[in-house]
This record gives sequence, structure tokens and C-alpha cells, in this order.
Amino acid sequence: MAAPYDIVHTWEEPDGLLELLDMIREQRPDANLRKIRYAYFVAENAHSGQMRGSGEPYITHPLAVAHILAELRMDDDSLCAAMLHDTVEDCKGISIESLTADFGEEVAMLVEGVTKLRFKAPDGNSERQKKVAETDRAAESLRKMLLAMAKDVRVMVIKLADRLHNMRTLDGHKEVSKRIRISQETLDIYAPLAARLGIWQVKWQLEDLAFKYLHPKEFQEIQALVSKTRAHREEELREAIIIVKDKLIERGVKVVEVQGRPKHLYSIFNKIVIHGFKFEEILDLIAMRIVVKDKADCYVALGVVNEIWPPLMQHFADYIARPKPNGYQSLHIKVIGPHGEPLEIQIRTKEMHDIAEMGVAAHYAYKEGASAVDGRFSNLRQQLFDWSSDYRTSSDFLRNLSTDLFSEQVFVFTPKGDVLDLPKDSTPIDFAFRVHTNLGLRVVGGKVNGQIVPLNHKLKNGDVVEVITRSNASPSFDWLQFVVSPSAKSKLRSHFRTRLRDENEAHGKDLLERELKSHSMEPKEFLGDKLLAVLGQIKDTKSIEDVFAKVGEGLISAQSVVDKMRPPTQKTQDGPSLSKSRESGVMSVIGGLDKISMRRAKCCDPIPGEDVVGFVTRGRGIMIHRHACANALAYEQTDKERLIPMEWQPDGSGGVFRVNLKIVTLERQGLLADVTNMIAEARANIVAINVKPLRNSTFEWELSVEVRDLEHLNFVMNKVANLSDVFSILRVHGRTGSK
Ligand code: MN
Repeated sequence: MAAPYDIVHTWEEPDGLLELLDMIREQRPDANLRKIRYAYFVAENAHSGQMRGSGEPYITHPLAVAHILAELRMDDDSLCAAMLHDTVEDCKGISIESLTADFGEEVAMLVEGVTKLRFKAPDGNSERQKKVAETDRAAESLRKMLLAMAKDVRVMVIKLADRLHNMRTLDGHKEVSKRIRISQETLDIYAPLAARLGIWQVKWQLEDLAFKYLHPKEFQEIQALVSKTRAHREEELREAIIIVKDKLIERGVKVVEVQGRPKHLYSIFNKIVIHGFKFEEILDLIAMRIVVKDKADCYVALGVVNEIWPPLMQHFADYIARPKPNGYQSLHIKVIGPHGEPLEIQIRTKEMHDIAEMGVAAHYAYKEGASAVDGRFSNLRQQLFDWSSDYRTSSDFLRNLSTDLFSEQVFVFTPKGDVLDLPKDSTPIDFAFRVHTNLGLRVVGGKVNGQIVPLNHKLKNGDVVEVITRSNASPSFDWLQFVVSPSAKSKLRSHFRTRLRDENEAHGKDLLERELKSHSMEPKEFLGDKLLAVLGQIKDTKSIEDVFAKVGEGLISAQSVVDKMRPPTQKTQDGPSLSKSRESGVMSVIGGLDKISMRRAKCCDPIPGEDVVGFVTRGRGIMIHRHACANALAYEQTDKERLIPMEWQPDGSGGVFRVNLKIVTLERQGLLADVTNMIAEARANIVAINVKPLRNSTFEWELSVEVRDLEHLNFVMNKVANLSDVFSILRVHGRTGSK
């Protein structure tokens, strides 16, 4: 299927477009001019009716931006994106989707990237609020730019071209304050970024334009001074160029060109304002540049220059052997020129020259493709995020901003070149969780810039990070101590919660199985429907697994769960145990002394329903006595102040109390069974029984029984008393069997 731009559209092409297409055709015969032409067509339609501040049709702006990029010899997609860069935001009917359909993913991605680099004006009313908002906004925009730039540096180059044209047409803004704000931002952020990318041509233009609006008076003064001395200096330079050129040719150096290079105005202003020079003292207003065929010629040319003019040795730098991080290469030397004035000379090849002028853009011109640029600029990537040491290309503002920004964040790369911003002090684990939760859960090791590092290694700006995973790996608890990103922390915590739950479930199931077996109950039979049937009786459980987890965690006992599933017959069989006491207290104190240790006094064994009194002992809590107890009566006389009023507080918990009984009976076969059955029928437990023969074929029984209260006790005693052959039944106090 033909792309939309392959269909020939005939319309009157404006001169600006024809000029641009001619220029591109000359640079790159294989350029896709139809696509660029169609991008213009779409943009012109989209912007039709819109005007710039200057009153010109809006389309003149994207066309000019494309022109700047063509001068930097950027590729077709960048030029198309330049044409379309303001359409998505400003025009109806254009979307990232429609651009993808018409121009492909690359163009759409570039337009989207440039669109996202738009920033809202700061809000807030007071000056202080405005200032804070402005700094926040700048930090945020810097962060966005760095991320966009790291992803595809073309986005940033387009943005710089956009800004350059906006600066050239800044007069269109009627508001002076707006012009100053935009100029300041250009000087603070855009020019240093252009420098960082090595696009010198754009950098100095941005600086000079911002200078013009920020310091109009100084700008004019310097401009006048430079032009006044220009004729003289140009004559001097022409002379020097002829001398050098002849000598180079004589030595067989393949010279591409020798040219003069005017210093730009903002750098002169800086020398005067920052370094305190007088204009007359700035002698090297013009510099010389020698461009030769290849690298070897550069060094021959250096030798030639040194023969002609005495060098100032402290001003020599070999950026060919040691290129700058942004890829810049050249030999720099300063000599005493023909008229005794210092002359700065740069020596480089044509390719080095293009890189010097166009920076990263040059690599697109040289058609190295994205991967070659990536390889070449791995160093640049590190530098992009490491501004702290850089004083040459950062404005103070940008340096302070990036100090703020990078004190809280760290920017790292995936092996594929995607950039991630993580909180400061992030580790390979934070990185892994950011990429994907599953990656985080399977991490066993980390690699930074190809080197194995410990998992708690702190990542630095520009690091290329890789993680080593194993499918059966599982996070360790101590990771929580050094992981810093909130999302990694919460993912780890939820993982541990789940894992703990799994462990609790397994443990709880095991406990229940053992408890069931101890009652000869088959776990398979009971840990299914039968457990489900009693779920309603177990608090906060909705499933069998919930019960397992609760038991495993120790919140409920396996015994209590099994009890609920046991058939009633089994329960009563176990009930009147002769050894187990289920005594529990259900009394409370009037007067606020609750929850202190309280015990029933052995001398009178009080039970609910009987009047009681508390005696505060020394160190053994409160002893509860019957009101009528002989000991309690004695305390009334001796220690009245230690007696406190008490009252039974039935709590419905089914607590029972042990009392001692003494029965006298005749000797009779089966009487023991009659007595025990009668007590069981009365729903009381026998906890101890001792029968001893007396004289005259009578027997004395000592019984310990658990009852709920006085009423229950009376009921039990009446039942037993009514049995035939029972002579008497009495309640006794003190230990059973003791005298
Ligand atoms: Mn624009």
C-alpha cells in the first residue's frame, strides 16, 4: 500500500518549502522529499488560520524549525517531526495515532516527545510562591528533558531548534516580562543543554539572542565595539591565513579550509562582566580554524603552526587523543600571532568539525543510525546525568537545579538503553521491581556497567544496570532494609505477607491433623465439608484456608476447632473427667479493682450465689471468702481495712467451680454407678471420688464436683440425697480427704 505521501499532491508550494527541499536534496540525494513535503502539507492544513505573535501565518514557524534542523543535517524523520511538532497540541484532527498512520512510528514518537516537553507556566500569587513554582517547574522540565534526551536525542535537538526559532522571533511577544522570562530560561537551560550535546552552532546563537533581550544596553555596546575594530582584525587575520595556508600546502597537508572564527558576543560580555576584563584587553576576538583531510594531517598542521608562531604552551589541548564526553575532537593551541597578539587556533578534520558544530546531530548526518550513536555516546549518557562536576557547559542555575534534582533521584539505563529515574540510593532490586514485579521477585544478583555487584549496591547516575534472575528464587527479608523505592517496598511486603500466609496455612493444617489423629478422627474426613459446616462458629473465617492460617498463626487452638467437629456422644464421655479441673473465675470487684489476680479461698470454697468478700493478701492477690466464713469473720476484727466488697458477675462463659461433698451410704451393689449417673444427669462433673468403708456396713464418700453456682449445687445435692441407700450429703470445705 502506498504511504499517503507517495500520492502526488499538487498545490502551490511556497518558496520557503522549495528552498528547504533544494537544500536537503543537495545534502542527501536519497532523502525522502515526498514525505517531508507531505509533512509540510499536513502541518499547513492543520495550522491554517493560526497566526504567530508577529502576525505571520503559523506554518512559517515549523518550516523554519525544519530549516534549522536541515542545516544540522538531521534525518528525514526529524525534519517531518519538526514540521508537525506543534500540531498535536494546537490543532484539531491531528493525534499521535493519525501521525503514526501517516508518517510511521518514529515520526509520531518524536512529535510526542517534543509535545511532552511543553511546560505549564508557574502559578501562585506571591513573588515567593512564583519563585518556588518557577524552580519546581524548571527542575521538572530538566528532568523531562533529560529523560527525553536519553531516550532519543533527536527529540532534544528538535526542541532546541524550536527554541532557537522562537528566540529569533521573540520580538513577536509584546510583553517585555515574557520576553525576559523566555530569554532567562534559554540562557539557564537550553544553551547549556545545547553545549552538552555539542551543538555549538545552536548554543552560541541561543546565548547571543538571550543576551540581547536580557541586557539590551550592554549587547549594543559590545556589538558596536566589535564592529568598530572588525575591519582591522579581519585584515590581520586574512594575512595570517595566507601565511598558514601556503606553508601547509608546501608540506603536503590536504587542506579543506582555513577560516576566521568570530567570537560571539555573549562570551565577550562574560569576559568583561565575570572575569573583569576591559574590552581593549580582550585581544583574541578572532580565532583561526584549520580544517584538514585526515587525523594525521591535524598533527602535521600543528607542527607547521608551531614553526610559524611561538606557541603559548599552557594553552595547548589535544581533544583528538582525548575527546570530550560529547564527542568533540580538535587540537587547541594559542600562539603569538603576526602582530604580537595571542591567536587561538583550532585544528580538526571535516568530520570533527561537523561534530563540533552540530554535536550529536552530526551523527545522524553521518548516517550511523541510532545504534552507532548509542555506542558512541555511552559516555555522553553518563555525562547527561552527572552535572555536578561540570562547570564549562552548565549555567549556575542549571547546576544548582541539577544538584537539587540529583540529590533525590538517580537516572540509570536498562541494557536496551531505556532510562529509568529512581529515588536516590536505589539498588539493583529497586531497579528490577521498577522494570517488572516478577523480575524483582526473581533477582539473585545485579550487574552495573558489566560488573557483578552486591544486591545492596547503590546505583549512580548513568549506570547501565542488569539483573540476574533465577526462576525459583525468592526475596529475602533483609532486602527491606536497603530497598528505597516505595513501590519495591510495598511489593516486597505484600509478597512476604502472602508467603507468611502460605507458611501459616501449612503449619495450621499440620496441627489440626495431629489433633484429629489424637482423637482417632480421620483428617481427610474432617478437614473438608465437616470443617466448612462449623466455619460460622469460628471468628473471622470464610474458608478452610482461613482456619488453617489462624491455627498456624496461633490465633486459635487446633483443639478448639476439633472440639467443634466432635460428635456430642464423644463429648459427654470425656466430660466427667476424674482428673481435669475446668475451674474458672467469673467474679468481679466493685470499686474498680478489676483484673487483679483473684482466688477462691480453700477454707470456704465460695461459689456464685453466695455472699462473698475479698481479702487483700500480701503478694498473692485477692482471696475471695464466703461472707459467713470463719476466717472472713476473723478478718473483720483484725484487718478490716484489707477487706473489700465483692460481687459475682456472671459472664455467661460457662465457668464452673469445684466444691467438696461428703456422702454417707449403705453398702450396696451398683450404688457407685447410681451416684455418678445421677450427678452426670444433673450436668455436673465429678473431678475426684474417694470411697472408704466405715463401721456397720456403711461407707463415707468424699466427692469433688464442679458446679456452676449455688443453685446448681443445691440441685445436685437434692438429686443425690433422694437416691435410696444414701443417708446424708454434706458440703465440706478444705482439701478432700483431709481432716
Ligand atoms: Mn514550536
